[in-house]
Amino acid sequence: MDKPIQGIHHITAIVGNPQENVDFYVDVLGLRLVKKTVNFDDPGTYHLYFGDKEGSPSTIMTTFPWDGAAKGRIGTGQVGVTSFVVPTGAIPFWEERLTKKQCYFEKGTRFNQEVVSFTDPHGLKLEIVARDQGPKSEWSYEEITKDTAIKGFGGAILYTSSPDKTGELLTEVMGLEKVGTDGNFVRYQAEGELGNVIDLDTSVTEVGTLGVGTIHHIAWRAEDEQNQLDWHAHVGKYGYRATEVMDRQYFKAIYFREQGGLLFEIATDPPGFLWDESVEELGTSLKLPPWLEPAREKIENIVLPITIPKG
Ligand code: ZN
Repeated sequence: MDKPIQGIHHITAIVGNPQENVDFYVDVLGLRLVKKTVNFDDPGTYHLYFGDKEGSPSTIMTTFPWDGAAKGRIGTGQVGVTSFVVPTGAIPFWEERLTKKQCYFEKGTRFNQEVVSFTDPHGLKLEIVARDQGPKSEWSYEEITKDTAIKGFGGAILYTSSPDKTGELLTEVMGLEKVGTDGNFVRYQAEGELGNVIDLDTSVTEVGTLGVGTIHHIAWRAEDEQNQLDWHAHVGKYGYRATEVMDRQYFKAIYFREQGGLLFEIATDPPGFLWDESVEELGTSLKLPPWLEPAREKIENIVLPITIPKG
C-alpha cells in the first residue's frame, strides 16, 4: 500500500445500562453523543456513538449497551485500554474533573508521558494522556473548553496473545512504525494526528472473554471505498481473510481476526455522521437504516429510553 493506515477510526465496546453509559461519556468525559442507532446485527440493542462535535474519525467511541448481561474479562485478543488525548497542560484539569465527578483514577507514566488511568461504570479501562498533536475539539460541555476537551483517541493498548505477530501486522502490513519499548510495552506509531499511538502490553497472558466491560473490536481508517478494497486485497496477500464489505450507514466496514486474537475492522471515513442529521441535531433521535425502518415501532418499544445530559 502506498499510503499506510493513518490511525484508529473507532473503538467499539460492550457496556451495561445505556443511561449509565451516556451519563459517563457525556457528563464525565464531555464527549458528544453523535449518533443513536441500533446494532444492525442485533436490532434490539442500541449502538451509541460518542465523539467530537461532528463525529470525526479517530474520535469515535461506540458502545453496544447490553443491560443486565454478564461481565466479560479483559484479556488477550482485546483492546485492553482505550486512550483519550487532551491538549498539553490539561492533565490537572482532568484530575480535578474526575475527582469532582467521583471517578477514581490513578496516575502513572509510560514512555515518559503522564497517564491518568480510570475505568468507566461498566469496567472498561480508559486513560487520558496529553499531547500537542491533533486539532483541538470544538465541542464544549460544562467547564470543559477547547483547551481541555478530549481531542479524540490518543491510541490504545492492545492485549495480544502473540505480540510478535500483532507487531508484524502493524508494521509490515499496516505501515505503522515501531518507535520504542518501555518495560512490558512496545510502541507503534501511525502517521495520523489522532488515534495514532498503539502500545502492545506483552505482559498480559490471560485470554479475554467477551461481555460487559470489554472492547469488541478496533477499527482503522480507510480514506474511501476504493482504499478499503485495496486494504481488503492487501491484508489478503498476508493471509488475513477479511469479510465482505458491510454497510454500516456512517461508514463501510470490513473485518478480520489478527493472530493475537483481536478483531480488526477497516472502516471508511466517508460518509460520516452528518448525512442524516445536521450538526445541531446529531444524536438527538433514533436513526435506523432503511431495512429496519419498517420495524421502528417495535424497536422503539424494546430499547430503553435515554436522556442526554445537558450539563
Ligand atoms: Zn466497528
